[in-house]
Amino acid sequence: MEITVSQKLDILLKLQALDSKLDDIVKMRGDLPEEIRDLEDDLAGFETRIGKFDADIQTLNDEISGRKNAIKECEKLIKKYQDQQSNVRNNREFDAISKEVELQQLEIQLAEKKIKEATAKIETRKSEIDTIKASLSDRTKDLESKKGELQVLVAESQEEEQKLLKEREKVQKQLEERLYQSYHRLRSNLKNGLAVVMVKRDACGGCFNTVPPQRQADIKEKKKIIVCEHCGRILADVDAPVLEVASKK
Ligand SMILES: [Zn+2]
Repeated sequence: MEITVSQKLDILLKLQALDSKLDDIVKMRGDLPEEIRDLEDDLAGFETRIGKFDADIQTLNDEISGRKNAIKECEKLIKKYQDQQSNVRNNREFDAISKEVELQQLEIQLAEKKIKEATAKIETRKSEIDTIKASLSDRTKDLESKKGELQVLVAESQEEEQKLLKEREKVQKQLEERLYQSYHRLRSNLKNGLAVVMVKRDACGGCFNTVPPQRQADIKEKKKIIVCEHCGRILADVDAPVLEVASKK
């Protein structure tokens, strides 16, 4: 069954009222959800860096054990050469073997230097990891406390929020998809989230620009959906100031 424009405007007003209440609830939670997301990102970044540094340390340790093995090989060779040296037939052979020994000793020196360097790098990485872990533990505490704060806020408003969301779902279903989409688009482009407003004191309730009398008459007729020519908000009705004042008395 086709619903009238007037009904559509009523539904839009209801939807807007519900969304404004939901906006208030979200606003009350403030920047907490975003702060929590940021902290979680930070923590993930820390974990990644620790993982990378741990892998570096592993690589350096592998390098060290490789070099230690190389040194053992050199020492074996030296031992072998020295045994050979006691059986040489002449000076030339003796000198040649001495050169080989020297070469192996140089190899050992080089390997020892590299081991020292790798050990120093490991120390650096370890202290970097300690620093990161300290920040990690600080931020984790921050995160826990912010999560706690948010939990309290959510708990306070959860029941209300669920009720509003349920009602909103019902109201939204009454609206044709195309109209709902334009409402949604309009709302997400507006800072205060007000897409459907009333004309109040001859002005648009969203941007406060004056709405001419003829246009107000058209709005009151509710024959078609009229938007504010300044801000594009849907003008759902005209609030009659005289009546409002009278009813307040
Ligand atoms: Zn306006």
